Formats: sequence, structure tokens, C-alpha cells
Amino acid sequence: MAYKFTGNFTQQESIPDAGIEAALAVLKHGRLHRYNVVEGEIAETSLLETEYAAYTGSKYCLAVASGGYALAAGLRAAGMAAGDKVMTNAFTLAPVPGAIANAGGVPIFVEVTEDLVMDLDDLHKKIDESGAKFLMLSHMRGHIVDMDALMAICNTANVIVIEDCAHTMGANWNGTPSGRHGLIGCYSTQTFKHINSGEGGLLITDDAEVMARATMLSGSYMLYGAHAAGAPAEAFADVRLDTPNCSGRMDNLRAAILRPQLAQLDEQGKRWNERYARMEEGLQSVAGLRLIPRPKEEYFVASSFQFTLPDWDAAKVHDVQQRCANRGVELKWFGADKPVGFTSRHDSWRYVEAHELPQTDRVLSGLMDMRLPLTFSLEDCDTLAAIIREEVGAVYQAAA
Ligand SMILES: *Cc1c(COP(=O)(O)O)cnc(C)c1O
Repeated sequence: MAYKFTGNFTQQESIPDAGIEAALAVLKHGRLHRYNVVEGEIAETSLLETEYAAYTGSKYCLAVASGGYALAAGLRAAGMAAGDKVMTNAFTLAPVPGAIANAGGVPIFVEVTEDLVMDLDDLHKKIDESGAKFLMLSHMRGHIVDMDALMAICNTANVIVIEDCAHTMGANWNGTPSGRHGLIGCYSTQTFKHINSGEGGLLITDDAEVMARATMLSGSYMLYGAHAAGAPAEAFADVRLDTPNCSGRMDNLRAAILRPQLAQLDEQGKRWNERYARMEEGLQSVAGLRLIPRPKEEYFVASSFQFTLPDWDAAKVHDVQQRCANRGVELKWFGADKPVGFTSRHDSWRYVEAHELPQTDRVLSGLMDMRLPLTFSLEDCDTLAAIIREEVGAVYQAAA
């Protein structure tokens, strides 16, 4: 009998003690709403915003109810109007086209490369063909496209960039934090991301008017002056009356849980990357299996691991997935006909007009994706790699 892996792929670490204590303090005083403060008190939510702005080097930060909310509010705050076209990655997850639809936009998908980033030639083409003035760039699974090249293309074409950094919190491109290249950076603090408050999101920008609009959208009423990392009062002069309130605030309980995690984020990033390195090591030179090259400019935070089985038959990829599953290794496959669990594909988002994306379909048909929670030890990673190596080998040899 082949050995099995028994770890739990969705088990995150517990909330640090400092977060639990801070949460209990909020529960005890009972002021969970961010605008419910006593004289001289700065709400946990406002403190989190100040700390996250400092962490990323942005002028302003707004905490909201979810990453998807941040994306939709970001689009509207950037000036997107209903019916506007918004380019985005063909390889991403459902909340991204969902946020575009939520803001009333029309998604235009851009092809993915075999290195799992946006194809910049196709981006050029889609800008020319569609005339879209917005790009929601999803750093899907933490793979960062050449940001210098992407920004050059978008700046030349006057395309506004909003970054979906759900998988790149703590990451950077050539030293610039992910989320700091475009007009707006959006992050998620949902349980499976890099800091965990169950649900939650953060939005950063250096643009006062954009931040004022996002703040009003999030449901600040006329209390925006209480935002320590918010836009200055003058930015709200017209915005406060012109912008609808679409409630999506963060509360003090979640912010209290997040602040100690933010303080540990860089340390945690290193631990994730140690696990990633062990996976890579264990899967070096496996016939038929391709590892994703990572450019030297990219500092990633590897909360997940991907590899491809390029140009394999769909049935064989499925076979590898099944065989690994039988041994306790959960691989997600982006090539399946039907969406499963958290995994879906451009052709399962039927509210979007169907796109021809032959390159994306080819890449996704061989793409395997695995969570890498910090509750896995380095030895666990060796076991995972060994099982994948064996099962890929068995299927590959049977096919040869
Ligand atoms: C999780 C996720 C989001 C949205 O985050 P929520 O907080 O769950 O709304 C956006 N983009 C990607 C790629 C994600 O994985």
C-alpha cells in the first residue's frame, strides 16, 4: 500500500494570542462599529488602515467588508460608469469578474501565458480592439506579471489599473509593493488569504478624490473625518453629496484580529516561501511536469503552489488528480468541464459574453493548483512532492 498524506489543506493557523486579546477587548467594550468611539479613542479599524498604509507606503487606506467589495468600490471610485468595459485576466477566480459585474462593468478577458501571468501582447490587442479604459489586474495565485512593461502599456493607452492583490499581500515587484503600481490596490483578508479575519478587504491609493469616493461608497455617512488614513476633508466637498452609500464597512472586531497578523506578515511570507521551495525542490526534473519560472524581480508570498502538465490529454491530467486525491493530496484542476468548489473558469461565468481564449484554455487544461497552508511542515511538503512525483510519473510512463 502506498503511503497517504493526512494533512488538512484548508486548515489555517490560529489567530495569534495578541489578536485574540484585542478581539476580546472589543467584545468587552462592545463598540464594534467603526464609528462608535468614545472621546479620544481611535477605532481599531482606523488604526488598521493607518498601519496598512504605512506597510505599503500608500497615502490612504480604507478597510471594507471583503476583497470583492474593495474591487467593485475601487472601479466605481476610479470613475468607471455602468456599461464601461473592464479588461481582466482570463485566469482568475469568480469574485473578479463578479466585482466588475457588481459595478455595472463589462468584463473583457485577457489571455494567460504559460507562466500564469497576463499575456501583454494580448493586453495590447484587447486595448486596441475594445477601447477599454480600465484594467482590473488580478495577480492570480501570486504570480506577478512584468509590472514595468504592463504599466508602460497602460500609461501609454491611458488605461487605469486597479490591482487585485488577493494573493499578493506582502509581495512586491522589484521592491515596489504589489498594489502600488496601479491607481488602486485591493486586498482580501478572507480566511484563505495572507491575513485572516474570516471576511474583509483593504483598498489603498495615493489619490485623494478616489479615496474620498471609495470612503463614501463604503458607507461612511458624514463621519469620514474619523479615518486616520483617509482623504483630507476638502476632497469630500462634492464627493460626499455625489456618491451613493453602498454599505460595506469593516468592523472593529475584524480589524482587531488583523492588526497583530499584519505585524507578522513578512515573517509568515518567509515561512510560506520555505514551503514553496521544498515543493519546487521535490518536483525538479520530473518528466512531463513543468514548474512555473519566477522572475528575479518578483518577490512572491507562496500561499499556494502550481505546476503544469503541458499538452497532456485531459483524461490523463484528471487521472493524476484522482490518483493524488486517493493519497490525500488535493490538487485543483482548472481544466475540468464543470466548476468545482472554489475553482471556476471563464466559460463558467455565463453572465459574461463568451470569449475565444485558445491560449488560456490550453494552459488551464494542464494546470494543477494546490493550497500550501502554514499548518503544513517542511516534511509535509516533502511528502506532498513525493506523492505528486510518483503519481505524475506513473501516468506519464503509462502514456509513453
Ligand atoms: C479571494 C479572492 C478575491 C476576493 O476576496 P473576498 O474577500 O473573498 O471577496 C478576489 N480575487 C481573488 C483572485 C481571490 O482569490
